[in-house]
Amino acid sequence: MTRAVLSIGSNIGDSLSHLRSVTTALGDRVVASSPVYRSAPWGGVEQQDFLNAVVLAEDDAFDAWDWLRFGQRLEEAADRVRVQRWGPRSLDVDVVVCENVISDDPRLTLPHPRAHERAFVLLPWLDVEPDATLRVGDVDVPVAELLENLSAEERAGVVKQGVGDGSW
Ligand code: AMP
Repeated sequence: MTRAVLSIGSNIGDSLSHLRSVTTALGDRVVASSPVYRSAPWGGVEQQDFLNAVVLAEDDAFDAWDWLRFGQRLEEAADRVRVQRWGPRSLDVDVVVCENVISDDPRLTLPHPRAHERAFVLLPWLDVEPDATLRVGDVDVPVAELLENLSAEERAGVVKQGVGDGSW
């Protein structure tokens, strides 16, 4: 069995539908899905806010690469447009962690190298796994602690949406 934490986001078109396309495709593999959050975009590119969520998923037959490929197929299906780095996207699927896999391969870096500094990953992750820990460098750190260490501005930029009871 492998269990993965997937971070999903969208800020083009019907973002909620793009997020739903992930849980629909995952089907029975969904263990839990977080509420949906609205978050200010990263990287200084002028663009719409993102909708973000975290999905805990499980599949006996999937390894970490399978989760990556699964997400990439969904990104393609959502007609993802890659105009610029940090720019708008119809669907982004990141593998945050997969079991205890550690990888520094640029095609699949695990844990995801920026997850620990992003409130739009940590906040929804805590909703579905309050005791979660994340390896940062050589240390397993509680996700709740990582969140506390973020700036007030970073946390305030990520706001739970009305649709957010995990049943979106
Ligand atoms: P982006 O969509 O901008 O986040 O980056 C996509 C690229 O990051 C793809 O080439 C992936 O192969 C690569 N990548 C590396 N690590 C990960 C990961 N943990 N989750 C998703 N994509 C990853």
